[in-house]
Amino acid sequence: MTVSARKRILVTGGAGYIGSNTTLQLLDAGYDVVVVDNLSRGHREAVDPARLRVVNLLDTEGLVRVMSEAPVDAVIHFAAYIAVGESMKVPELYFHNNVAGSLSLFTAMIRTGIKKLVFSSTAAVYGMPERVPILETEPYAPVNAYGESKVMVEKMLQWFDQIHGLRSICLRYFNAAGADPAGRVGESHEPETHLIPLLFRAVRTGVPVTLFGDDYATPDGTCIRDYVHVTDLASAHILAVEALSAGRPSAGYNAGTGRGFSVKEVLQAVEEVVGCAVPHSIGPRREGDPPLLVANSDRLQQDLAWVPRYSDITTIVKTGWAWELRKN
Ligand code: UDP
Repeated sequence: MTVSARKRILVTGGAGYIGSNTTLQLLDAGYDVVVVDNLSRGHREAVDPARLRVVNLLDTEGLVRVMSEAPVDAVIHFAAYIAVGESMKVPELYFHNNVAGSLSLFTAMIRTGIKKLVFSSTAAVYGMPERVPILETEPYAPVNAYGESKVMVEKMLQWFDQIHGLRSICLRYFNAAGADPAGRVGESHEPETHLIPLLFRAVRTGVPVTLFGDDYATPDGTCIRDYVHVTDLASAHILAVEALSAGRPSAGYNAGTGRGFSVKEVLQAVEEVVGCAVPHSIGPRREGDPPLLVANSDRLQQDLAWVPRYSDITTIVKTGWAWELRKN
């Protein structure tokens, strides 16, 4: 696909995990991209220096300057803090960066006349849902400050649409995983809290990973999650930009596969790919972990014609492991 007239997309948080994957896919698809990132948690080397603008989201004037360099067709907004545990210790960081930062971004968009936004949201907006697979009609019920910060932004967006005509698509990710199949970018959080990179680390270092509880009411006692490949998430963002360009109204969509894997099943998939045992121990439950989180993503598949192509667990683990080896 090439994009006629090279539409320019502004990506916030483009030096982060999902943002850098999406930026590459946008460029592959023929878009022009400018990345805004303050590099507080992102990686400078993940972005072409000519495309990077090191600006803090709270700097509305700085954002207006970037938006005024050349006409921006749409914004994809990833920049946010994402660590659930940290959000329950220092919630002010989350409301400041995620909520006030988003407000500053939307203010700059209104001032420069940009009226299309794709927002990086999360399954954490649903908390501990009663009905699984989770539908978009499930009410907001976050159980941590991180999830609440995303709900607040989704709600702000509803008002910005009604009052300013800023249309948005909120993509509520389930468990983003894997790496660019071409090996260009992948996952690198510090500190790392996610299961799959921690399983890889245990293989590399021999230091056991702790599985957080094996006494849940699930078939093998460990928590079940819906792992979705980062490349498939990236393509959902591009489809969302296209849908907004085609005039689609604001909406929120779940982005998952509808298929869950337990912690032990993921561990087994890693062992099959790396060809050796993953050193591990069983520890206590992690506070706030729902036993089962699986998305119903029919709406995303139907409305935006999204087809996950890389989200089988073997491809997720293979691409993630290739990145892990490259990174280290
Ligand atoms: N998990 C684990 N040990 C770890 C990290 C995670 O057992 O060191 C479990 C966690 O309890 C959850 C699943 O792996 O059931 C996925 O956790 P992750 O932090 O990757 O994503 P989350 O579902 O919290 O967004």
